[in-house]
Amino acid sequence: MDLDKLIRDNIKTMQSYSSARDEFQDAEEKMIYLDANENPNENGINRYPDTQQKSVKKLLSEIKKVSKNQILLGNGSDEVLDLLFRAFCEPNKDNVITLPPTYGMYGVLANLNAIENKEVLLNDEFEPNVEQILSEVNENTKIIFLCSPNNPTGNSISDESIVTLLKNFNGLVVLDEAYIDFSSKESWLTEINDYPNLVIFQTLSKAYGMAGIRLGILYASIEIIAVLNKIKPPYNVNILTQNKALEKLENTKKIFKQVSGIQIEKEFLFKQLLQVKFIEKVYPSDANFILIKVDNANKRYQQLLENGIVIRNRTTQPLCENCLRITIGTSAENLKLINTLKVL
Ligand SMILES: *Cc1c(COP(=O)(O)O)cnc(C)c1O
Repeated sequence: MDLDKLIRDNIKTMQSYSSARDEFQDAEEKMIYLDANENPNENGINRYPDTQQKSVKKLLSEIKKVSKNQILLGNGSDEVLDLLFRAFCEPNKDNVITLPPTYGMYGVLANLNAIENKEVLLNDEFEPNVEQILSEVNENTKIIFLCSPNNPTGNSISDESIVTLLKNFNGLVVLDEAYIDFSSKESWLTEINDYPNLVIFQTLSKAYGMAGIRLGILYASIEIIAVLNKIKPPYNVNILTQNKALEKLENTKKIFKQVSGIQIEKEFLFKQLLQVKFIEKVYPSDANFILIKVDNANKRYQQLLENGIVIRNRTTQPLCENCLRITIGTSAENLKLINTLKVL
């Protein structure tokens, strides 16, 4: 892969914004900051945030065993995804490949950035049709989006498929691992230095229990991170988010305990769902949700709503006819769900 050929020309030549504090943030001495027109009265939030979120990255690099300079943080995964489009995809010219049924945001951002979204459906086992994907690639294909474990299907993509795409595609292979902490499979983070075209996404929104603070994480080569750093809004992760992430990430034991609790609940729910008469299929899940196929998705969705339970109706998605996606809740919530389903 030739990274230089992937980057948009305007990104190569543009000058990035140089923020007031950047050069002096690491100063050894206690400096007097009269450079950024802030209100000087200290209240914990009167200063602009660290543009490089160094403390959060340090902690993440220890937890995930990745080098700090291979991490980019953003205002949720959405922002980081958007940066990828803006760095590498030329509007009205380039294209990306997505594999429905999958996370809707890849397609939305493709549209927003005027990038053609070539959709290659997963096969009946929800695995990528690798040959078909590679046959869709042309000289303007910049990114292939993979989601593993996949939303909404819940399965992980096989290693063979991922390796074949990494080895045979000259653009970026973006692997969305939003649900990796619920999976029995290893993260691909350990391979990040073996494949220069591999970009991995994770998030604090799911297993880590911090959807509200909006912190998306991208891991890639130092070279790719440098391109994205050049174009990201300088203060894209606010101080409240950085502080909250630091506080919570100090106690990963608590987080992993919650994740095991959710796993136990998932197994319980899986068995119980199999016993509901109108549920035709319960798909295995490596995530914190379960996809089910029912007799009539719209009807069952509505009935649950009437009982005060909101799930996700996925029936309009390809390969997901009459499918509903259910997030694993607390044990009381799951029990209420099961008891409701059994009397519908
Ligand atoms: C929830 C989810 C995300 C996370 O998005 P954030 O913007 O970080 O909250 C990313 N990818 C997939 C597939 C998801 O389901």
